[in-house]
Amino acid sequence: MPRPKAMHAADPPWLEGLNPPQREAATALDGPVLVLAGAGTGKTRALTARLAHILAERRAWPSQILAVTFTNKAAREMRARLRALIGPEAETMPYLGTFHATAARMLRRHAELVGLSPSFAILDPDDLERLARRVIDEAKLDERRWPARQLCALIDRWKNRGLGPEEVPEAEAQAFAHGRGAELYGRLQAELRQLNACDFGDLLLHLIAILRRHDDVRARWQAQFRYLLVDEFQDTNAAQYLWLRLLAAPAFGGHGQVACVGDDDQSIYSWRGAEIGNMLGFARDFPGARLIRLEQNYRSTGHILGAASALIAANRHRLGKTLWTEAGAGEPVEVVTVWDGEEEAHAVAQRIERLEREGTSLAEVAILVRAQFQTRAFEECFLRLGLPYRIVGGVRFYERAEIRDALAYLRTVVRPDDSLAFERIVNTPRRGLGEKSIARIRAFARQAGLALPAAAERIAETDELGATARRGLRDLIGKIGEWRAALPTTEPAALLDTILDGSGYRAMLSADRSAEAEGRLENLRELVRAVEEFPDLGSFLDHVALVMDNEREDGRARVTLMTLHAAKGLEFDHVFLAGWEEGLFPSLRALEEGGEAALEEERRLAYVGLTRARRRATILSAASRRIHGQWTSALPSRFLDELPDAHVHRTTTMTGGPSLWRAAVGRADDPFAHLAQAGGRGPGVVRAARHPGGPTRLDGLAAARTLPANPAIGVGARVFHDKFGMGTVRARDASKLEVEFDHAGIRMVMDGFVQPMP
Ligand code: ATP
Ligand code: MG
Repeated sequence: MPRPKAMHAADPPWLEGLNPPQREAATALDGPVLVLAGAGTGKTRALTARLAHILAERRAWPSQILAVTFTNKAAREMRARLRALIGPEAETMPYLGTFHATAARMLRRHAELVGLSPSFAILDPDDLERLARRVIDEAKLDERRWPARQLCALIDRWKNRGLGPEEVPEAEAQAFAHGRGAELYGRLQAELRQLNACDFGDLLLHLIAILRRHDDVRARWQAQFRYLLVDEFQDTNAAQYLWLRLLAAPAFGGHGQVACVGDDDQSIYSWRGAEIGNMLGFARDFPGARLIRLEQNYRSTGHILGAASALIAANRHRLGKTLWTEAGAGEPVEVVTVWDGEEEAHAVAQRIERLEREGTSLAEVAILVRAQFQTRAFEECFLRLGLPYRIVGGVRFYERAEIRDALAYLRTVVRPDDSLAFERIVNTPRRGLGEKSIARIRAFARQAGLALPAAAERIAETDELGATARRGLRDLIGKIGEWRAALPTTEPAALLDTILDGSGYRAMLSADRSAEAEGRLENLRELVRAVEEFPDLGSFLDHVALVMDNEREDGRARVTLMTLHAAKGLEFDHVFLAGWEEGLFPSLRALEEGGEAALEEERRLAYVGLTRARRRATILSAASRRIHGQWTSALPSRFLDELPDAHVHRTTTMTGGPSLWRAAVGRADDPFAHLAQAGGRGPGVVRAARHPGGPTRLDGLAAARTLPANPAIGVGARVFHDKFGMGTVRARDASKLEVEFDHAGIRMVMDGFVQPMP
């Protein structure tokens, strides 16, 4: 439906409420535009308004606009916002999406030009790695020496820079297998073509090749896309930017109708090839570009903004900008020091339950972590409390590939007839058992009516398999036997450690030096920590099975758990930032690899995290973390020192608040009194007892064991229990309380283990 042009003073709905520079960004439709502005200043909003304006003004049909966002979630949100502004026309935009999605759509129309058919498949990283392994094999290289994953990472970096196999600089081709990097890259591309398949990087790379080589195709797309819009421009990589230039830059015959919005302070993907230089190159590549700055922040309250601005000011390499808000000062950013990771999860859960009681929807709460492994403690705590959560942009801890692999090893050891588990690990890491050998074992198992492991054991004694396969299988079976024999005498966590080393699984990951592999190793370390809490492997495996079963989608509002990277562009009323300790955040690995530049990127991540919060930001920092069963004391993140006192409220409050606790245990002066709570959790006792710390801590523990009854808690009182969360007391029987918990149902608990809540 064509809308009448806005001719009178009243604003059309899509321009309503925009401030003057936002309005300029939305309505300056002739010529290139670059909006450079800080977090929460309405860049995405202005870009969406521009989209609506173009459509409403009939400057272009929906199919004539290319609008790229960073994630699918962001694309969905933009579509939804657009729909609210202009109605169902928003649904018809075929080229609104991520770089990958829009490129895939375009490439289908020209697949033949790069030797593919239009129905080409898009391989995920796992498939690609398998293919790369084959290529390495066929090139007669030892994959243990030159891991496929490392080759994939290298090739991905080349693709992100828009480099095909022939364009790889001589010096860089040396990086892999004695100078065979570019050759292997070429072979992989040939294999992909053979399979009629692409990986993610190819989508852009092929399009770039097509747009470069075929002037007619380029001219057609340049004419089709009358307007191009890009959100989160600071994180585009070289290939993405080249693609944009081919589509619209005057140097390539384009019309220059490109609008980009971004924030140099939020550039957090340099490790994936993002180039902040693109922002600086824009004015050169798109002459006459209008630079628009937005300074009013509409998202956060004054304290949050003040803290974030001060933090990012410590970066030297930035364009610099001022931000202000009319939202009022709000609450200071709360910095909470907790004892350890579990205490951290409890502290957050307790605060979330309080928020929920006060009427906050869980959909308005997010927990942001630096590393994937950090979600584990939160997940377990929330599952126990029945607090619904979801993980965005990542996989739940126990569903990650490396965790499943490790669990499959454990299952194989604990349960001799677990065929599925055995099949999962029999050739991971590779021990010469190809698909054919495995099919043979499977067939034999069926025939003989045996479980796969037993069948494998028998077949290994015969000549059914080739020599390499047989050796590999015998070796594995021998090790499984050793691990099984060690079961009764070895601590579960130590056994897992032995298995991860003895199986070669860790070595496989270590050989691959990508950031992703390091993340997987971290996850495995976290798994070892998780196992430490259980008396034996069997009960641990049961626990995991129960946790995994908890996966129903019921439309309930949920707390969001995600990494800082995945949180870009999003906003929540309440944001919890976990794990602000040196080494974890800023990440030691990043600092070791990237030095000062990496530190600045870590700081930008912190800035992104803080600026996600609308009303309240809470930062947590643990005084100690357990690494390999050892307690290590952690230093608070240097970023905490960079937050100005004026905007921050620092507390060492542990779950529930020290004053309440002190009242309960009657030890007003014990700085470790909070530790007494460890006594309330089963595993906590073990943990605390293993702690090499001094007697003060054990005193705290002792205090917990001899807790006085707390007669002050009567029927009807609101209480917080370490394990079950918030609840209301229904009945009392001496020192036992019957409590109806908000999430965990009715339970009998000891009154010494609950805290009265106001
Ligand atoms: P980020 O840098 O995090 O991507 P952004 O600059 O894209 O942030 P938006 O997400 O567009 O910011 O806007 C932040 C919040 O401010 C949103 O809730 C948005 O609706 C609101 N907002 C933006 N502009 C205005 C305005 N002119 N009046 C009122 N609210 C606004
Ligand atoms: Mg945005």
